Amino acid sequence: MNPAAYFAASYDEARVKFLAAAEASGASVSHRVHPTERGAEGEELSIDLAMLGDSEAPGLLLMISGTHGVEGFCGSGCQTALLRDDDFRADIDRAGVCVLMLHALNPYGFSHLRRVNEDNADLNRNFLDFSAPRPVNARYEEIHSLLLPSSWPPPNDSERKLEGWVASHGATTYQAAVSGGQYRFADGMFYGGAGPAWSNRVLRAVLREHAANRSALGWIDFHTGLGPRGHGEMIYAGGNVAPDIARTKAWWGDQVTSFFDGTSTSAPLTGINGYAAYDECPDAAFAGMALEYGTYPIEQTLQALRAEHWLHNHPDASRAQRSEIKRAIRDVFYIDADDWKAMVHAQAVEACRTALGHLARASAET
Ligand SMILES: [Zn+2]
Repeated sequence: MNPAAYFAASYDEARVKFLAAAEASGASVSHRVHPTERGAEGEELSIDLAMLGDSEAPGLLLMISGTHGVEGFCGSGCQTALLRDDDFRADIDRAGVCVLMLHALNPYGFSHLRRVNEDNADLNRNFLDFSAPRPVNARYEEIHSLLLPSSWPPPNDSERKLEGWVASHGATTYQAAVSGGQYRFADGMFYGGAGPAWSNRVLRAVLREHAANRSALGWIDFHTGLGPRGHGEMIYAGGNVAPDIARTKAWWGDQVTSFFDGTSTSAPLTGINGYAAYDECPDAAFAGMALEYGTYPIEQTLQALRAEHWLHNHPDASRAQRSEIKRAIRDVFYIDADDWKAMVHAQAVEACRTALGHLARASAET
């Protein structure tokens, strides 16, 4: 199987390929169309769902693409390839489990080539209790104006100040400051939002509808942009709950990393989407990860993100600069090369097959 054919060059093309594959596989398909936003080409934006296997099974595997918009090229290609995979579909039936593919959790960012959503919010920092005081990210506050200066490329004096900050605090502290999540600057980077985003509310409703009555929930959320090229890091995606961390490692092995214990390339994050499982399906035994595929060195990824956020705050930028910045952000989160696609696809198949085996056991026990 050559998986490259299942990857797409735009959100709309990805959606068409996913829905055609879902239809051909006999999956049960449904749509959650965005009520207000349209895509970059004026197209409809939608979170699409495809359900395979035994809809009443005690074990459910949820696969999410596009939590981070532009990162959706990867997860969408993996989902579509799996829908077209006769062996995988036979595995689902044999395991007696249910598989739910959620395509494009953040369709706005996917189409508009943003990592964030229509509110400039990072969906993987948006799942927290907004009635409580927000986490404070004091280090981000120190460098916000240096990250997003008045002009782009950044003025030399401003960039020297930022380099000085990084030199005195270290690269790890810099990554945590920028990417950990912040709730004070609505026009800033890795902003967690001012309330539950549309995609957050849809995901919660989907979990209530399809996962609340299960005894076991497997969770694979596809991401890109951290780690070595083509390598899939399995980053534990639930709460700081020992039995869930242990279960996730029992499923996928000790290579599962966690930002709770510092083993992940990811900085500690606030408000990740896996927390929704605790609210919406507390009775389902959770094993979940972000499957994070490497693309380019993090310095390059952060630079592309800074530029794209700057562009968002400067809609008067020239057409040439706009297309250059948009091209760069797509390229750092999606390597449009057959060998990279083959690598990410092979690891996705293996991770999903492993999950099916454990969910089959959960089904057999009930
Ligand atoms: Zn991501």
